[in-house]
Amino acid sequence: MKRTAVARRAEVVRPAWQSASLKARRYGCLLHTCPVSTVVITARGEQRLRTGHPWIYRADVADVDAAGGDIVEVIGPRRRTLGHALFSDRSQIPIRMLARGDTPFDTSMLRARLARAIQFRDSLAIDATAYRVVHGEADLLPSLVIDRYGAYLVLQALSQGMDRLLTSVTGWLSELFAPKGILARNDPKVRALEGLEQTVEVLAGSVPDTVVVREGPIEYEVDLRKGQKTGLFLDQRENREAAARYARGRLLDCFSYHGGFALRLAGQCSTAEAIDISPDAIAHIESNAARNRVANLTVREANVFDELRRREKAGERYDTIVLDPPAFAKNKASVPNALAGYKEINLRAMRLLSPGGYLVSCSCSYNVNEDTFAAVLHEASVDSHTPVTLVEKRMQGRDHPVLVGAPETYYLKCFILRRVE
Ligand code: SAH
Repeated sequence: MKRTAVARRAEVVRPAWQSASLKARRYGCLLHTCPVSTVVITARGEQRLRTGHPWIYRADVADVDAAGGDIVEVIGPRRRTLGHALFSDRSQIPIRMLARGDTPFDTSMLRARLARAIQFRDSLAIDATAYRVVHGEADLLPSLVIDRYGAYLVLQALSQGMDRLLTSVTGWLSELFAPKGILARNDPKVRALEGLEQTVEVLAGSVPDTVVVREGPIEYEVDLRKGQKTGLFLDQRENREAAARYARGRLLDCFSYHGGFALRLAGQCSTAEAIDISPDAIAHIESNAARNRVANLTVREANVFDELRRREKAGERYDTIVLDPPAFAKNKASVPNALAGYKEINLRAMRLLSPGGYLVSCSCSYNVNEDTFAAVLHEASVDSHTPVTLVEKRMQGRDHPVLVGAPETYYLKCFILRRVE
């Protein structure tokens, strides 16, 4: 296993006693009582930190004297202290930086960051009762996600280090936010890659099965324990709002999930249709439509690829089309297929647009960056003989900010295009 690769490398690079004595000298403690865990990284790792990136990959870890989940002192190849980090002994990303420089790290800094993250969201004056409160690395709280749903908080700890800090995080959240309940949606697959249990559990207070939240003018009933992500796709809130500046006529919302775009836009459209492949999603769209008295929305449980092809053959036309597919490129290997998929749906959607119609086209694959996505849309426009203009280039909402220096935190692209004729 890869764990052994690190261990073996550690033996070759520097015997364990050497790092222990180094530590003892640095902290002036007895070898066997020295409390500080350390990880030595390579010159390439140090260079990466210099670019502002908060992660060190396994290949750039030279020596480990720490247990999984520890907060470690990160030491450079020239034995300089570079900062402190969360350490994971199973992940491909063993090091997630918490702080840089040689000042000792105190977990009260994390509480202050939590408070700052909450204040930042308050300052955004978000017109919704559901939004992201903590966006991991971008809030300097690596691998921690916290979403607010009304009076409840739903969190995810996605690394060994953050998992170990959950009791403290729960206490701080109770003090700073006073939620009625805190739910851990610790069921994402990445937890398994970290060697962590996949669980869903209430950490504080009590959490009902469903919660009603409002986003702009629309109310949603959310199943916090079973919904995708932490319940809703909160990252699209501002893009739904932006789409509402253009939507009109016949609307087609593809990959609708619980009806996010369709419900927000239907009121200003003559007819609206939402397509999703999941029967559970369809049931939610229907109940959300009834709750919001949206009467002109029809739903269809189907595969978007088939539906777009069928409608194109039938010569249908729409004035507004939304494409918000799941991440087609979950990893680098799947990028070519993903690009083909993005191209196909965009090409067909462009053909289905009436002149002057709008296409809201999204990609949430980090592995397909903005330039690549723009190139796919360009090809789709050329191949479908559809002249389109780019009206807005958008990303995930401001409550999911991008950490400059960590391109992985910019994952959602949302282009608003207009068919010129
Ligand atoms: N637009 C939504 C979020 C979409 S999430 C919002 O604003 O909240 C992606 C959705 O695509 C999921 O609900 C999933 O069930 C659906 N999906 C995945 N593959 C599909 C396919 N081939 N055809 C139709 N729906 C699909």
